[in-house]
Amino acid sequence: MEEKKKEKAMDAKEIEIIEISSNCHSEKITDQKSSEKKSLKFNQKENVILKYPMWNNISNLCWLNSSMILLAHSKILRRLAEDISPSQIYNILLCYKVAIAVMNGDASDQDSSTHEAGIILTDVRKSVFEYLRPIIKCVKGKPDSAFCALLNLISENKEIQNLFKVEFTKVGKCANCCATRVINSEKTIITLSKIQPFNPIHIISLSKCPVCEVPDQELRYVYKTLPQCLMFHFEKGAGRGIFKSLDFKINDREYKLTGFIKLVQLNDPPVGHFIASVRKVFHDNWMDCDDLIHEPLQFYEGHPYLNLRQIHILMFEAMDNKGTIPNASYKDDSSLIGDCNSSNIPIIDLSD
Ligand SMILES: [Zn+2]
Repeated sequence: MEEKKKEKAMDAKEIEIIEISSNCHSEKITDQKSSEKKSLKFNQKENVILKYPMWNNISNLCWLNSSMILLAHSKILRRLAEDISPSQIYNILLCYKVAIAVMNGDASDQDSSTHEAGIILTDVRKSVFEYLRPIIKCVKGKPDSAFCALLNLISENKEIQNLFKVEFTKVGKCANCCATRVINSEKTIITLSKIQPFNPIHIISLSKCPVCEVPDQELRYVYKTLPQCLMFHFEKGAGRGIFKSLDFKINDREYKLTGFIKLVQLNDPPVGHFIASVRKVFHDNWMDCDDLIHEPLQFYEGHPYLNLRQIHILMFEAMDNKGTIPNASYKDDSSLIGDCNSSNIPIIDLSD
């Protein structure tokens, strides 16, 4: 079995190379001397329609399945896989690659390829679950938190943390008593509770003023640093309406939404169900990864329907390889508050 896995791992590497050459195509097409050759490579890729496996839904594990597939499709984690070993995420990336290769390996016996890919995914899920069990106290058969799974998998390893870690400041002035707040934070995933319809450039959360206790006072989020991967967690959805900010720019840095997890309410039984969607940014293709659908997955053209109310996790990734950079438009804390006519002294927390 071990030998077979290694063999399949090599297949996976070949498939990955095909994908990488396609992803690099847009960046290198300006190189006129070699563009013809690269176009050929690209066309070859166009003919390869890969099928993707998904962890199956058993024991209410959609929280873990959706988290793992999101990480498995992260552009930066895939690119830096060797640098983040050993880690649970590295194991997920490696086994997922092997499973893709197995699934696409033997076209004459699709059922057995799909079955074998499923065994590989089940094995790695078991070890990830065992890793998380003492940390988040997850219990077999009981639903748990996709956010907690992601947070703890990202926290396992400093290299991974550094790809996600974002420094930001929350600033606000109470409309009732004019008390001002400045809260400096550092997170790997930004958690938002009650917010105005989410816009990654202008995030405004609503919370109770700690002085006069009037609810729904605005806190504006200002990025101090811009990480390679910017992830958000929404405790109660991301507002109302349809989410349209799939891509955005801060200064010269371009971010694209590369994946998300939504939380939908099922009727029978009445439970929340996590479904991930992942994106190939070069082709702008999407793939919905619902563990209740027992079919090999494929990317499709067009955008998924994104209801803000259902959004649970959003993953944006920078389209460069610069790592974490300072936000050039960030100003110091005091100038963020703006004018305040009250004589109140600002409440400044250094961290939350
Ligand atoms: Zn107040």
